[in-house]
Amino acid sequence: MTPEHFSTAVLDWFDQHGRHDLPWQANKTAYHTWISEIMLQQTQVATVIPYFQRFIERFPDVQSLAEAEQDEVLHLWTGLGYYARARNLHKAAQRVVSEYNGEFPQSVEALEDLPGIGRSTAGAVLSISTGKRAAILDGNVKRVLARFYAVEGWSGTTAVQKELWQYAERNTPDARVGDYTQAMMDLGATLCTRSKPSCLLCPLQPQCSAFAQGKTDKLPAPRPKKVIPVKQTLMLMIRNDAGEVLLYQRPPSGLWGGLWSFPQVQDLRDSHGETGLEIDADSAEALAPLRHTFSHFHLDITPVLARLKSPTECVMEGSPLLWYNLEQPQSVGLAAPVKKLLQKLPSPGLS
Ligand code: SF4
Repeated sequence: MTPEHFSTAVLDWFDQHGRHDLPWQANKTAYHTWISEIMLQQTQVATVIPYFQRFIERFPDVQSLAEAEQDEVLHLWTGLGYYARARNLHKAAQRVVSEYNGEFPQSVEALEDLPGIGRSTAGAVLSISTGKRAAILDGNVKRVLARFYAVEGWSGTTAVQKELWQYAERNTPDARVGDYTQAMMDLGATLCTRSKPSCLLCPLQPQCSAFAQGKTDKLPAPRPKKVIPVKQTLMLMIRNDAGEVLLYQRPPSGLWGGLWSFPQVQDLRDSHGETGLEIDADSAEALAPLRHTFSHFHLDITPVLARLKSPTECVMEGSPLLWYNLEQPQSVGLAAPVKKLLQKLPSPGLS
């Protein structure tokens, strides 16, 4: 199949069956496309839609995002996971304002130089918002191309990446490039799905190598399995007499960087931990544990209901500690398991 046939087949299918009413398609600015692309990394469209709408309502343009407090950006991201995306979004907005006068740069190289923007996201922003020819290779497109050309090997390796980029570049048309970008993402998300692809409905099926070879369930090759370690931690759920819960803001970089979490300790005797607080170990009560899995390790969390040794210990302005009010929650970003545990927290009378 020539590149022209490939892109024509995909565009014809898109005109009839593609998604045309997603909220970020209403006004295809670089800002809207960028926010949606970052949110869509590792996250399904249906989950992203309400987050995108809330985010754009609060930060309608790159200037308002650049001027925001990081806490507020993280707050609007709470529940989407992969918080480095939100921190990078904030930093990139500040650079677009300070270095480009609030206008997104118009080359893949300059976009890629901004925090959190890789080659594929740069291609998507450029092609959708300006119509300039630029290829993309996100997870959906990788799957389509790996199957169509029967590319063996895991797409995380340099050799496979390189081969897939060559196919992506070659098939990207000169005209209607923004539609083609959206069409490839849609085809991967709706037909060429991870399991049970709908090949009989696919415009590429007559020439698809994986389909012809009966290998759609083998390609793309999965990431080689690795055993990831298990770490343990105790999360102290400390409450005051008003029923508020003590949260601690994590350092700006690293795990859950800048998010608010329960103070963590390895052992109750070591309760000074990262916050310097002393708890009354006799009043501590462990709750059912919870596992949170990161890409490189599992974290087994034991939540512990506890009280401070000196309840008068106060939270001072500017300190990384906060009494979180469950009835009227403050606008802060919460680590995902913290959000889950706060919802399960027994009412003060029951503890
Ligand atoms: S024919 Fe099937 S495997 Fe091939 S690209 Fe289409 S949906 Fe994917």
